[in-house]
Amino acid sequence: MVTASVAAPNAAPVAAPARGRIVVADELGYCWGVRRALDIITDAADTADPIAPIGDVIHNPQVVERLRARGVEGAASVEEAVGRGFGRVAITAHGMGPHLAKEAESARVALIDTTCPLVTKVQRLAQKLVRQGYFLVVYGDGYHPEVKSVIGWAGTSKALAAKKVADLPWTAKRGQAGEGQVAPPRKVAVVSQTTKNVDELMKFAHELQEMVVPEGGEFRLCNTICEPTSERQSALKRLVERDRVDLILAVGGMKSSNTARLAEVGRELGVEAHHIERPEDIEDAWLERVASIGLTAGASTPDDVIEAVVAALVAKGYAAPEGGVRPVDPEYVPAY
Ligand code: SF4
Repeated sequence: MVTASVAAPNAAPVAAPARGRIVVADELGYCWGVRRALDIITDAADTADPIAPIGDVIHNPQVVERLRARGVEGAASVEEAVGRGFGRVAITAHGMGPHLAKEAESARVALIDTTCPLVTKVQRLAQKLVRQGYFLVVYGDGYHPEVKSVIGWAGTSKALAAKKVADLPWTAKRGQAGEGQVAPPRKVAVVSQTTKNVDELMKFAHELQEMVVPEGGEFRLCNTICEPTSERQSALKRLVERDRVDLILAVGGMKSSNTARLAEVGRELGVEAHHIERPEDIEDAWLERVASIGLTAGASTPDDVIEAVVAALVAKGYAAPEGGVRPVDPEYVPAY
């Protein structure tokens, strides 16, 4: 016998079952240092003349647009900022070498320093290690402003940036350099770009240590990856290992290397992952047979862009995340 169920005329409409769920990483989006820098710079811009941060203020096109509307617009150099009529320049959260303060002083422009205190810590440590006679290796991207700033503060030619031991000029272990080979100096110290991955830093350091320690060499590793970065990386691992998501979306500007890295780490953990800048970048084909989407975002991604991505996924049939997107804790200060 076939039976049909008929809803009572006044029954509440039954919601269609969700296509799947959205799991938002416990830590994502603006890091403490970027949030702090943006607060300093926008407060300063709201109360006086426009400001030109030197270099990319943040790798996110939506934020760059909003800052421009508030009188904050990047310039490549102090000279360019002065030429464009700015009376104030700023150091971004990534920091700058000591040359910038001198350039601002001789150009007679005011300087606003928004360097993240966790980057300042690495700059000071670099100076100290150099004073103690170490050759300094900065594990990171040589082109990145933070790495350049650390090398600038080290203030020596005995400092190099590298992401692989093969990028360094040393080709043999100490005491084993043959014809045409170069061994490292006796004392080598490594600090890290704050946004790097700890497992990769350890691999790099281990390889380099093997070359330095023979014949009385001294090797020192300072793990300067910042707490907000470590927390983001752990939160991403939890999406895969605890929440077992089928797909990861990493939200952030296409120029944001830490967002690209989040997507890469997701893939390394064995999950399909895509780097998207805005909701329109989500391709329907990615969502076929996907019941659980993990959402993370780079350190320069504003909250409203993350929320717009959540809204777009809800519109595609996914249940909104339980508890919404992580609220900002105004009392939080990372360990350093
Ligand atoms: S990633 Fe870390 S060091 Fe860099 S700005 Fe953010 S909190 Fe500071």
